[in-house]
Amino acid sequence: MSEALLRTIEERTDELVALASDLIRFPTVNPPGEAYAPCAEFIGARLASRGFQVEFIRAEGAPGDSDRYPRVNVVARYDGRTRGQTVHFNSHIDVVEAGAGWTVDPFGGEVMDGKVFGRGACDMKGGLAASIIAAEAFIDVNPDFPGAIEVSGTVDEESGGFGGVAYLARRGYFSKPRVDHVIIPEPLNKDRICLGHRGVWWAEIETRGEIAHGSMPFLGDCAVRHMGAVMEAFERELFPALDRKRTRMPVVPEGARRSTLNINAIHGGQTDDYDGLPSPNVPDSCRMVIDRRFLLEETLSEVKSEVIAILDRLRHTRPRFDYQVRDIMEVQPLMTERHAPVVEAVAGGIRAVLGQEPDYVISPGTYDQKHIARIGHLHDCIAYGPGILDLAHRPDEWVGIDDMVDSAKVMGLALDGLLRRR
Ligand SMILES: [Zn+2]
Repeated sequence: MSEALLRTIEERTDELVALASDLIRFPTVNPPGEAYAPCAEFIGARLASRGFQVEFIRAEGAPGDSDRYPRVNVVARYDGRTRGQTVHFNSHIDVVEAGAGWTVDPFGGEVMDGKVFGRGACDMKGGLAASIIAAEAFIDVNPDFPGAIEVSGTVDEESGGFGGVAYLARRGYFSKPRVDHVIIPEPLNKDRICLGHRGVWWAEIETRGEIAHGSMPFLGDCAVRHMGAVMEAFERELFPALDRKRTRMPVVPEGARRSTLNINAIHGGQTDDYDGLPSPNVPDSCRMVIDRRFLLEETLSEVKSEVIAILDRLRHTRPRFDYQVRDIMEVQPLMTERHAPVVEAVAGGIRAVLGQEPDYVISPGTYDQKHIARIGHLHDCIAYGPGILDLAHRPDEWVGIDDMVDSAKVMGLALDGLLRRR
């Protein structure tokens, strides 16, 4: 273990806190994608001053990109003295809206009681700050290191990552030979290594009917009643079947260690976004958005055919029943091997810094690792960072200073393990 490295990170505690506060002061709220450019420029300027080569990549044409809200990403790279492998720390700079219920300024970056407060403190500007301090300290302590270190600040993770990591991955930023190992400092708690996430199938189901006067519904065909039949079949068959499917993936919280389906939205008939009374109509369309999360043990086509089978059966048994299914989003489940180099390096750091075995977990929802795996074809990737996941997106979000320092040490030791000892 590198004592000098750990000491250097410890000595930079105030700098780490100040950096986290500075990052929180950029109100990078998504949507719409506020303050992306100044935040990216701030990160770029800091890393350029430490000798990194800095690139700004605007995701032109990505969803939400405009001159008012440009999707600006920053990628900084520091090449060591000799050739070797590259470790990349990727953080998203966007945060969700502050919402109500705050007792501190959500964009003030206030420091109190050993914590830094603000929207994005834990998700994930605290992790970004920790990775920057870890990288800088590692370079200062090991000026002759082989390989390279990259730090990126990317946009739009909260809205799917299409203008951020997906955009960069399509341009080779997350593929070999440029990058070998990726750590995403999402707030998974400093003693946990997140190996991946469950899969996603988001879809819209539409039932069709026929419009008629509401006083004579027998002349039409009510799409909402057809959707009621779908819901009833889901309740009777689908939900119990999903509940029985267990996974070997160590998903946290434990309730998510099975297949789940959320009915995200349902809408039939006239919209209610007007003043006044509705007119009497039989609805001819009803739409339901489903969010199905699936497991490594399942395939996407099985997942879809479970739902289609129910709908097809209704088509045969229920008069005039007709439907359409439209895919909205598909993400494959991911689980990086426990013996992958980045996992072992971070695990070694956790043992050394915290004196305990890491917990290996899987996230119930997805994050940018999906793009790195699917588009970049890079599989040596995990999420590891400070902060308590349950605080993300909530009022009075905070990150612990000790947690940031400890995780920066773990990241520093992971660099040591991946670059110097391999
Ligand atoms: Zn996040």
